[in-house]
Amino acid sequence: MTFQNTLEFAQQLDAEDKLAKYREEFHYPQVNGKDVIYFTGNSLGLQPKRTQKFVDDVMKDWRELAVEGHFYAEKPWWDYHERLSKSLSKIVGAHPEEISVMNTLTVNLHLLMVSFYRPTSKRYKIICEEKAFPSDQYMLQSQARFHGFDPKDAIVEVKKREGEHFWRTEDIIQKINEVGDELALVLMGGVNYYNGQVLDIQTITAAGQSVGAFVGWDLAHGVGNIALKLHDWNADFAAWCSYKYMNSGPGNAAGIFVNQKHLNKKDIPRFEGWWGTKKETRFLMQPEFDPIDSADAWQLSNPPILSVAPYLASLELFEEVGMEALIEKQRKIVAYLEFVLHQIDKEVESTFEIITPEDRGCQLSVFLHGEGRPLFDYLMKNGVITDWREPNVIRLAPAPFYCSFADMYNFGQILKEGILQKSATVS
Ligand SMILES: *Cc1c(COP(=O)(O)O)cnc(C)c1O
Repeated sequence: MTFQNTLEFAQQLDAEDKLAKYREEFHYPQVNGKDVIYFTGNSLGLQPKRTQKFVDDVMKDWRELAVEGHFYAEKPWWDYHERLSKSLSKIVGAHPEEISVMNTLTVNLHLLMVSFYRPTSKRYKIICEEKAFPSDQYMLQSQARFHGFDPKDAIVEVKKREGEHFWRTEDIIQKINEVGDELALVLMGGVNYYNGQVLDIQTITAAGQSVGAFVGWDLAHGVGNIALKLHDWNADFAAWCSYKYMNSGPGNAAGIFVNQKHLNKKDIPRFEGWWGTKKETRFLMQPEFDPIDSADAWQLSNPPILSVAPYLASLELFEEVGMEALIEKQRKIVAYLEFVLHQIDKEVESTFEIITPEDRGCQLSVFLHGEGRPLFDYLMKNGVITDWREPNVIRLAPAPFYCSFADMYNFGQILKEGILQKSATVS
């Protein structure tokens, strides 16, 4: 399709957009009395309007039923979290029993490492990408130390090549083969938070397993963003948060995937609690742990219903739309954004450099060479919510649920004005 950088053209794309009506399903922050152009759905998704009711329902049941709400609420609390597993299993390409909703992301990665990082004196190394998300780095380092290893020795980072902004699959595989029988675990971000790159999860998983390691994925930026087939790709485990592309609210309940092949095993090491036991016998309060035959076996406590409720509200929207339709719009809107950036780049004779490779989801990371913090401030003041990383990288994620093609055009105009104004003041 040939794009044009005009408002009419962008509005035409919006008119043809089957998801356009979902804009109405979300609340937008206001700047200068107008809805913002929101590019940070990769950091915190907007609030769906229907979420309020899901939370109110829980408050009402608690108010009116108190403890009886566990069994007699309209959506009884004792198996409330199971309602999420079915929708989530479609989103990540899994069987419902391979999914659980519990805790938060970093907590869950630690819990999963109890099961899948079982180092021995010979096989103890972990492969991850260089400059992984800080929380993941701290998690891996503390796990290595916990088991008595020096993180500098135990953690092997795959680097990008000199002058390149992305990882090459062949370099990751080479590193896996190099570490070989010393490799205990591969744990990487399936979609990189910084450059927006989508890794080849299937190929890397197979490579890690072929040398005898477990392979797990942090899908904070993957879930609700890209097509996933965790079961077919044979990932051992995965974890994600729900507040980025999944729009379930700040710091909210997170999800895990544990491959079917690891379920129903009594000998798998795991930290356990009463909500991981079989439902039929849970309230017999027996001293022995009787694991439930799903990923819920990793669940320790009774779930925080008030934070699971917004996640259920958001999943209802995903269920309605489906990942296929979301990804179809995402491809188009990201391509249009890329086109607009190139047009503006030419018009202002600047040097934008898109560092996100072709294997991408919703995010474009762009170096705005020669620009700085004042441009970011200008964008924010003019109703464009973006994410700025020093010195001059801007991350733009036009989430297909609530961003429009007109937003992309309008953003381009504001960006251009911001750059021209700066040159005007400088010269
Ligand atoms: C957002 C993000 C996190 C956040 O971790 P929390 O435990 O939810 O605070 C972790 N890892 C990656 C890769 C992320 O993008």
